[in-house]
Amino acid sequence: MPLAFPHLIPRRAWREILSKTRVHRFSAGEMLFEQEAVAESLWLLRRGTVELFKSFFGEKHRLIYLSRGAVLGEVELFGKAPRFANARAATDVIAYELPARLAREYLVRFPAAALSLLQATTHRSRDIAEALVEQLVQRNLELQMHQARLDPQIRRRVKDLEQTNEHLQQLAWVDALTGCHNRRSLEKVLQMACDGGEPFAVAIFDVDHFKHYNDTNGHPEGDRALQTLARLLQRRLRANDVLARYGGEEFCLILRDVGPEVAPVVLERLRTAITEYNFPFEEKQPLGDFTVSMGLSMFPRDGSTPERLIKSADERLYEAKRQGRNRLVGGSGARL
Ligand code: GH3
Ligand code: MG
Ligand code: MG
Repeated sequence: MPLAFPHLIPRRAWREILSKTRVHRFSAGEMLFEQEAVAESLWLLRRGTVELFKSFFGEKHRLIYLSRGAVLGEVELFGKAPRFANARAATDVIAYELPARLAREYLVRFPAAALSLLQATTHRSRDIAEALVEQLVQRNLELQMHQARLDPQIRRRVKDLEQTNEHLQQLAWVDALTGCHNRRSLEKVLQMACDGGEPFAVAIFDVDHFKHYNDTNGHPEGDRALQTLARLLQRRLRANDVLARYGGEEFCLILRDVGPEVAPVVLERLRTAITEYNFPFEEKQPLGDFTVSMGLSMFPRDGSTPERLIKSADERLYEAKRQGRNRLVGGSGARL
């Protein structure tokens, strides 16, 4: 960029102007002036390169590089505003500083110089606008690329979270060892069944001499037997029936839409299936077999709340144990 002043100003006048300036030398990195500073002078860049940049919220935004011959600070000369941007020496710089008051005087005396200055300012505004648009486009592109890289990560993370969530929900309702409903789930299902008002059966199963099974074969083998038992029952249930692990080796079964005639038949079938199934090491059990005892209660015959139904089934289970185990108590003609 040619010097905006000298070629339109008579040589003599130019010498006079120069005599009124102060010569400054800046090393690369030094500031000529800072954004928002009071603007009291016009700068003529004699040698080197100056970077103009603005600071927004601690971030630096480059506007343009100015080189030998450029004028700095002319906008503030007319607007009497503080410095619009920062000016920093990008290389070693020599610059002339002319007090604003004198600069204004000279511009009035030499209108051609004022016109030349205006042209230079206009050009620079366009250069700055173009540089900013370029930066904007570049930033946008980077952002889009970043987004594209991030998207698969986010999708993966969301999927992980969904799976974790599903898993947690399962934990809340499912027994970890057997995969049956847990006690919490059982209570809810029982309450809903009571609220529904349709007849249903509640049976509590308890493994006979399970302590013996554990003691003889080890706890892990006991765990496996409980899993096997749960699978065995589950396979024989209808979609509407609910099998829950009620306690350690106790299960609770809810049979929907069955009356006092059908429920004992279904339960006897299940009990027989258990005795017929070959559990590992069952021959070492006191009864020579892996068996369960069952207590049955019917809604609404034996109670209309979950508590009463469970209590009744529990009492009958105890009775089944007392009578010698491997049997159902609470079938038709329930005595207890
Ligand atoms: P009964 O015929 O009177 O029911 O005798 P039992 O030995 O089955 O009854 P008891 O209540 O004396 O013992 C139950 C045993 O079940 C004791 C306990 O260690 C075991 N048990 C409870 N929960 C689990 C479990 O999750 N895994 C295993 N392996 N054993 C369990
Ligand atoms: Mg028990
Ligand atoms: Mg038992």
